[in-house]
Amino acid sequence: MKILVSFSGGKDSQACLIKAVQEYGSDKIEAVFCDTGWEHPDTYKHVTGTCRKMRVKLVILKSRKYTDFVDMAIKRSRFPSSQRRFCTSELKIKPMIDYILSLNESCLIIQGVRAQESEERSKLPYECNYFGEYHERVKKTRKGKKIEVWKQDYRRKDVLKWCAQNDASVSRPVFRWSGQNVIDYILAAGQLPNPLYRKGFSRVGCYPCVMCRRLEVKLISKDEWGARRLMEAEQRMKMETLKGSSFFAPGYIPVRFCKNKIYPTVQEVFDYVNRDDAGMEDMFEPEGGYTCMSLYHGLCE
Ligand code: SF4
Repeated sequence: MKILVSFSGGKDSQACLIKAVQEYGSDKIEAVFCDTGWEHPDTYKHVTGTCRKMRVKLVILKSRKYTDFVDMAIKRSRFPSSQRRFCTSELKIKPMIDYILSLNESCLIIQGVRAQESEERSKLPYECNYFGEYHERVKKTRKGKKIEVWKQDYRRKDVLKWCAQNDASVSRPVFRWSGQNVIDYILAAGQLPNPLYRKGFSRVGCYPCVMCRRLEVKLISKDEWGARRLMEAEQRMKMETLKGSSFFAPGYIPVRFCKNKIYPTVQEVFDYVNRDDAGMEDMFEPEGGYTCMSLYHGLCE
């Protein structure tokens, strides 16, 4: 059986990796990193350095359809948002499912998910079947009609065929841990967490994540490389799609600071977050958390 640790570069999955090495041995596990092409260089360094230090095989997965986050946004003529979070499914969930299906054996998938992250997450089981949602149906409204569809449909036939021969179990070993427990555990193992935490970021997935806080945007606005990359992405979207979808969602900043009254540009958001009277009331995560609320938790930190 293959043991896969879903490693995002964040602290929870790092603690899981250390725990898995101690329990199973570094030669028995694989760290799986879904590369969106939109992470910070520190995260790439941290992911490769941590695996090298622990002598754990690192598997880097990428979307087969899109070269990276920006390519995906341009091809879909819009940036993802908290309501339309297709980035997680296209750049993380699908590559992970493709990888599991490519394995001709059962696997255990270890996820760094903690109950304290949100109320939603606290309801998750400690262990479950990775493909459990392929057997669940949900009600959806399409063209005004209520219909029942499968909760997960990506490569459905292949998944069911694979499941007839193999098993994919999920384990969440740090589920009951606090954030402090996780950091203490990493330090006790002689390691350091992703350096982005020390720079003030609370989450270290994409740089930035489409749901990042204004406080984090302020940090990015002062980082020449990060600020330029974000503006260039928005510029490319404008030039290549003529649609001008902005990176930040409507309402990210008060409309009076936004020229077209709806979609704030990156520059307008940078200007706003650097004002002395800027509202930073999104300092804390909203109820329900920012992270993926599907079976495939732990892919976005
Ligand atoms: S970290 Fe954020 S931007 Fe990146 S894939 Fe996840 S939800 Fe999307």
